[in-house]
Amino acid sequence: MADDISLPSTVLPAGARPAPLIDPFQRAITYLRISVTDRCDLRCAYCMSENMQFLPKRDLLSLEELDRLCGVFIARGVRKLRITGGEPLVRRDIMHLFRRLSRHLESGALQELTLTTNGTQLARFAPELAALGVKRVNVSLDTLDAAKFKDITRRGDLPVVLGGIEAARKAGMQVKINAVALRDVNGDEIPDMIAWAHGLGMDMTLIEVMPLGEIEADRTDQFLPLSVARQRLESRYTLTPLPDRTGGPARYVRVEETGGRLGFITPLTHNFCESCNRVRLTCTGQLYLCLGQEDSADLRAVLRATQDDAVLARAVEEAISRKPKGHDFVIERQRPAAVPRHMSVTGG
Ligand code: SAM
Ligand code: SF4
Repeated sequence: MADDISLPSTVLPAGARPAPLIDPFQRAITYLRISVTDRCDLRCAYCMSENMQFLPKRDLLSLEELDRLCGVFIARGVRKLRITGGEPLVRRDIMHLFRRLSRHLESGALQELTLTTNGTQLARFAPELAALGVKRVNVSLDTLDAAKFKDITRRGDLPVVLGGIEAARKAGMQVKINAVALRDVNGDEIPDMIAWAHGLGMDMTLIEVMPLGEIEADRTDQFLPLSVARQRLESRYTLTPLPDRTGGPARYVRVEETGGRLGFITPLTHNFCESCNRVRLTCTGQLYLCLGQEDSADLRAVLRATQDDAVLARAVEEAISRKPKGHDFVIERQRPAAVPRHMSVTGG
């Protein structure tokens, strides 16, 4: 077994509710996204380069360290955890972490445990994830055309992912489809993908390409502003804005013809920072306070220096006190990328 996770970690007594972490702009930080690996079995062209240099395994937090750190965040008022990556389900023994974290759902300290996945391993893991209390899963899928899928992901097999989605639905999980809008690649397909997803009762979210990490292509060639995608959609669908906000970057509409929900994540054309409730932990234990800024805190160093969770909690509090007001993404014909780290390191 790669990671032994038998150490005890912070569990709040049932019913206890800690005061949330508050940042300098009076935002309560209740949502932690955790990248558990930078590795992936796909190589989506907008996310990774063909020959990615992955981190040495010793640099990654062990599952035991991830569990301990999550416990500290939960004890400080984090109510929602999202496990991501890289591809979280390719991390060895990842189900041990889900098993450990599920005790916080049972105690009521944690409201939600979710994950974002490319779906390739979901058929295998969906039943256990559902049994552990994972009620919702985001599956990233940019096309329903098998050849295009292979192209975008440089190796993926569409039927495998569709099988994963089916397994998650069968297990009773609510599936949301995330699609990155890519000019000249899937732009024309978006209306049909919405009809497919909504036909199966799944929400769908469209994402703009963000300038994270060096890749071979120039992202200005991939960038399809969602303002344009939305205009095109309105020639086929009636979109009614919904008030639903999650503290995240998505804005939602109801598609009247399908009855389903559609989200738009538009970091480049719409500023969403004012209500930001989240921070991100990388697989090496760096806490990033904003997806689009470089400022971070090295929690791995603190984790490995002490067994005292109170010291760790103070390091978390100190980091949150530095959370910036917002980001400043601009996609321009320039290199290097606006933010040098890949999404697979910080966690999407
Ligand atoms: N491997 C998992 C997956 O694909 O769902 C989880 C990690 S992936 C980095 C999370 C999300 O980030 C995916 O929906 C992916 O499409 C998106 N993503 C990756 N790189 C991106 C970029 N440069 N701009 C916008 N979205 C990106
Ligand atoms: Fe892997 Fe997800 Fe990045 Fe695609 S988007 S390469 S599936 S981490």
